[in-house]
Amino acid sequence: MSDKVDVVVIGAGLAGLSAAYHLADAGIETIVVERGDFPGSKNVTGGRLYLNPVRPYFPADFWDDAPFERAVVKEKLSMLSAHAATTVEFSSDAFRTEPRPSYTVLRAKFDQWLADKASAKGAFIIPKNKVDDLIYDGARVVGVKATDSELLCDVVVAADGVLSFIAEKAKMRGALNPHYHALGVKEIIELPAKTIEGRFGVAAGEGAAQLFFGTITQGMIGGGFLYTNRESVSLGMVVGIQALMEHQPRIEAPELMEMLKARPEIAPLIEGGSTVEYSAHVIPEGGIHALPKLVGDGILLAGDAAGLGLNMGVTVRGMDFALASGALAARAIKESRVGAHSHAPLHAYEKYLRDSFVLKDLQTFRGMLDVLDNPRIFSKYPEAISSIFEKMFWIGDQPKGKLSSTVMREALRGFGNLNAVRDALGMLRI
Ligand SMILES: Cc1cc2nc3c(=O)[nH]c(=O)nc-3n(C[C@H](O)[C@H](O)[C@H](O)COP(=O)(O)OP(=O)(O)OC[C@H]3O[C@@H](n4cnc5c(N)ncnc54)[C@H](O)[C@@H]3O)c2cc1C
Repeated sequence: MSDKVDVVVIGAGLAGLSAAYHLADAGIETIVVERGDFPGSKNVTGGRLYLNPVRPYFPADFWDDAPFERAVVKEKLSMLSAHAATTVEFSSDAFRTEPRPSYTVLRAKFDQWLADKASAKGAFIIPKNKVDDLIYDGARVVGVKATDSELLCDVVVAADGVLSFIAEKAKMRGALNPHYHALGVKEIIELPAKTIEGRFGVAAGEGAAQLFFGTITQGMIGGGFLYTNRESVSLGMVVGIQALMEHQPRIEAPELMEMLKARPEIAPLIEGGSTVEYSAHVIPEGGIHALPKLVGDGILLAGDAAGLGLNMGVTVRGMDFALASGALAARAIKESRVGAHSHAPLHAYEKYLRDSFVLKDLQTFRGMLDVLDNPRIFSKYPEAISSIFEKMFWIGDQPKGKLSSTVMREALRGFGNLNAVRDALGMLRI
């Protein structure tokens, strides 16, 4: 069977569904091909969605019926040494004020809701169909070969996620570079809503986000995360793939996850819960240095397929980039079709991304990976900070020294060296 439509979107994740919603809204005939049983069935996130950056791309009431889990009102950042933890906790009325800046989400629910929004605008979603190849007319992409059909179209939006073999087939990027990617493993652990609210000190409907870094990754770049949902928590670990490959002795991410769950700071938070879902997924972390070609002849890349992810240690982002890039891909396609220019180049897409928060944020934090890819941040410094606090709070059987000299001595021991000065100066790059 061979059909012709205006646009084929590959992948019903956030990038693909956002593109489909906006394309269909503009009256552009759009088919979304998704390999999973339903949109969201294969998709993994931490996940916390930062909504402020993407609000301008959607109607004001768009989010009113979104299946959000909890509005995040409390941020916790924990630095773990081998035997201690230092935690910074922050909450603010700004997080409790409407419109809320961020929410936790579960993708199986959230992506289906977004798919319904796109379908209501007229996009046609075909699940259980994998796109295996592109169809060309000379150098121009003019369609896709999927499980059940060949679909011809004017433009393909490849939103097939981080491993995007479509981007590779279209020669818009080379093989994946392990240095620019991390592996994430995640469990969804069910707990009663009241238990979650009690353990995290939040009101009904509100939630907390906690990030962990330090010796839990055994010197490797990465960390842990915990997000509260309505009746579950999402707990996970993210570790650089290159670091995992080079680590001696060899260790796998699931083992690190078990160690994380056993930590005395974390075990009581999940006690009595039952794991209902376990998933693993790759995350793009190369930022602006690892962008593929975003626009090809008849094809655009969006979301993770375009490498749009940013791990800043204190925030992990990709979903907002996926939603915005999908919307911008739709804008570029729409404008390329105006009047007689129905085959005008799609290069405006790259400009739209550069003018938006998506590539501006990736540009601002272009040094992030270099700064974070430093074993001292995950081993030596958490130990040094733990040591300062331990000596401050410890009352032993000997008379206690002055606090100022205790802190000074421990700080000098941990940070009084050239590497620490160099690392502190490096931090100025982010
Ligand atoms: C462990 C982890 C934690 C994260 N935490 C956060 C967080 O807290 N906040 C945040 O903003 N981001 C987070 N991210 C990143 C975020 O999840 C991604 O950036 C986002 O999901 C990207 O959306 P996407 O639509 O581009 O890709 P995806 O969600 O991966 O969607 C791609 C879709 O394409 C489909 N597909 C793939 N190949 C084909 C094919 N050949 N044919 C048809 N369909 C295909 C897939 O089934 C899937 O539905 C996290 C990621 C991970 C893994």
